[in-house]
Amino acid sequence: MRKIDKIIVHCTATPEGRAVTVEDIRRWHLQRGFRTIGYHYVVYLDGTVHPGRPEDEIGAHCLGQNGNSIGVCYVGGLDKKSLLPKDTRTEAQKEGLREIVARLQRKYPGVSVHGHREFAAKACPCFDIKDL
Ligand SMILES: [Zn+2]
Repeated sequence: MRKIDKIIVHCTATPEGRAVTVEDIRRWHLQRGFRTIGYHYVVYLDGTVHPGRPEDEIGAHCLGQNGNSIGVCYVGGLDKKSLLPKDTRTEAQKEGLREIVARLQRKYPGVSVHGHREFAAKACPCFDIKDL
């Protein structure tokens, strides 16, 4: 098993309210040349948590940080009209995100939690990780 010391949170960068599935993301990531979906978990609009890439496989979600991290992504991140970055998390998604992060923190003691934008010049995940 690889060493996990970070959880990195992402958004799909899709408009608020648009339902996106693991299969959609897998298709997008295949188009970008990834082997499969780059994230390990996806939190849907209804707060349910869906597995993507297995945890024991290195993900493809954060340049320079993939080797020792788990990538968790919620669906949304853009304002419906302006398509500008926005914290679009539903209450259910906030709960779902907290749940999967807490589960991973129990599984990998000492792991730190980050937003993608700490490692890249991006808005992702469109909220401050301290508001998780
Ligand atoms: Zn991201």
